[in-house]
Amino acid sequence: MDHAGIVFDHVRKEYPDGTVAVGDLSLAVTPGEVLCLVGPSGCGKSTTLRMVNRLVEPTGGTITVDGADVLSQDPVRLRRSIGYVIQHVGLFPHRTVAQNVATVPGLLKWDKARTRERVEQLLDLVGLPHATYGKRYPHELSGGERQRVGVARALAVEPPVMLMDEPFGAVDPQGRRRLQQEFLELQRSLGLTVMMVTHDMREAVILADRIAVLSKGGVLEQLGTPDEVTDAPANAFVADFLADFGTVAG
Ligand code: ADP
Repeated sequence: MDHAGIVFDHVRKEYPDGTVAVGDLSLAVTPGEVLCLVGPSGCGKSTTLRMVNRLVEPTGGTITVDGADVLSQDPVRLRRSIGYVIQHVGLFPHRTVAQNVATVPGLLKWDKARTRERVEQLLDLVGLPHATYGKRYPHELSGGERQRVGVARALAVEPPVMLMDEPFGAVDPQGRRRLQQEFLELQRSLGLTVMMVTHDMREAVILADRIAVLSKGGVLEQLGTPDEVTDAPANAFVADFLADFGTVAG
């Protein structure tokens, strides 16, 4: 798998109504790392993430994935090439688990044998043995299992980068912890580059190699390892944000 970084260079998003969701953001996700965006609701986390695959069009600056400017690429092809996992994973209800995971390979016209092999491999990888789960429908799964299918679907075409927006937010707390741990093992073993949005500082501490703390307007208040951010908040904003979560150590 080819591992790419994501680079934001003076990126801006002003929505048509004049809301400046992200004013001027420069930030790099290095290959193979998990970078978590944290910050209060409405600070621009999802906007930042969604500009990478152009679900939201930036109005200024440059974003590159693996060195290529996203604005120079066809948005549909770009989106198919980037893994995207969201809170309510949006599986197709009338398609089996295997068919859901095969969605993008199907769109890319992979041959059947290659697709089947890849789907089986991915389901096994995310802890859903394909013989048991491949033929099930989404309503026959738990919330945690559905999220795993979402991750498998996002990994189907070996994306250079993964974007994740509150990926475990809809899973019960116990299931979430296990899913987080398993995802981390998967991410490490595949060397995935991940940009993840979470409002939960605890989740960021568990999963992130580095944490970017944003305030309103996508202002980058601090960028550092979980230890750096929790041990030495850069300013009062970061300290207050951490305080809202109480003790986040561990
Ligand atoms: P977060 O993910 O941190 O909660 P968002 O990126 O969703 O923040 O939103 C950032 C800001 O942009 C908020 O003020 C939000 O209301 C605004 N916003 C988001 N989407 C739109 C839109 N389509 N049109 C106008 N404003 C929007």
